[in-house]
Order: sequence, then structure tokens, then C-alpha cells
Amino acid sequence: MKRIFTARDAMEAHFVKSLLENAGIEAVIEGEFLQQIRGDIPFTMDSLPKVCVREEDFHAAEVVVNAHRARLKNRAQSQGPSWTCVCGETHAAQFAACWKCGAAKPSDTDCT
Ligand SMILES: [Zn+2]
Repeated sequence: MKRIFTARDAMEAHFVKSLLENAGIEAVIEGEFLQQIRGDIPFTMDSLPKVCVREEDFHAAEVVVNAHRARLKNRAQSQGPSWTCVCGETHAAQFAACWKCGAAKPSDTDCT
């Protein structure tokens, strides 16, 4: 397997994995559980979850991941700050619902 993407957190790793799987590319997440002990280890790229694909799928995966990166960049510029769900999970602005509990993003008029 070859690393295609280093995610900021497990949520993003799972999101990218599902994008790849939707495109018919088998993907696995490595290092996901390191986050739980991050307090004990130095914060480095190696402690972040990584999405890996098979060598032969790498180029196809790259297209999917680059599209994801481009969307993130656009949305980071056009949308507001990250938001915190009622369950306590924090999400980047582009996510309209919580991956953990399924709750919708609160609208701007709600107090959060
Ligand atoms: Zn939630």
C-alpha cells in the first residue's frame, strides 16, 4: 500500500477513504488510533492518520484526493469557521452534518 493522503484527523481520513471507495478504489487508514494517545507523543505528520491505496490505484486515487484538496481550499475561503456539534465533535465549516452522531450543522442564527 502507498500513502495517498495525510489527514488532519480521523474524520477527514474516513471522509477521504469513502471518496476513494465511491470511486471504486480500495483504501485503508493507517495510524488512526495514534490520535487517542497523541498527548503522549510528539505532534508530527507521523502521528496523523494516513489514507493508503494500492500501488496500482495510486494515480486514480490522486485524482480523487486532489479534487478533495481543491474543494477544501475553496470552501475554507468561502465558508466560515469550524463548528462544534452538540455531541462535542468539532467539524470544519464545509461539513453540513456531524459524522459521529448525524446531527445537522447548526445554522448561523443558532447560538452554539
Ligand atoms: Zn455530533
